[in-house]
Amino acid sequence: MIDALRLDEHGQLFALSQAVRAVCEETKTAQAECDTWTGVCGWLISQADVWRADPWLAEFVAGQVWDVWRALTRAAREPDSPSIPCAVEGCHGRITALDDGTGGWLWPDVCTDGHRVDRAELVRRWKATQPAPLADVAQTVGRSPRTLARWVAAGWLKAAAQDGRTPLYRADEAQRIAALMERTA
Ligand SMILES: [Zn+2]
Repeated sequence: MIDALRLDEHGQLFALSQAVRAVCEETKTAQAECDTWTGVCGWLISQADVWRADPWLAEFVAGQVWDVWRALTRAAREPDSPSIPCAVEGCHGRITALDDGTGGWLWPDVCTDGHRVDRAELVRRWKATQPAPLADVAQTVGRSPRTLARWVAAGWLKAAAQDGRTPLYRADEAQRIAALMERTA
């Protein structure tokens, strides 16, 4: 989102200011003095009759607006990076994944307090927080699907998400219930 506000050629505000510049050049009017979101948007709206009348300008402005809309929509939909607490006893640090640019996550080797991280263990813990069908969760926690279905019926294990009609559960929650059962057994 920070990127979206950059005024240089990679920012979204720049894309809109290019539209303003094009309208001013094509209609031979003085360059509009606007370099804020409010200024640029307000100016383009106020001059809509002018640029819509020219097919080339109409297409150019629409293209710039469409790019900005797409970039903002993408930013708004981007899920939060997964973040897992450090496994070191007493550490309040976290390990937060970085978007690898292809829809996957890159995990750093150290927590925010500098402890080295076992990545395989980290990914395992993160996967346990991702909602999955009951049978998969049962396999992850090493219990039978029947046992988990009982926990669901008892209201101990609640669906974390829904995939169509299939309820999805979190393995870490099932693990917590399994640990409780062992303690009370
Ligand atoms: Zn740590």
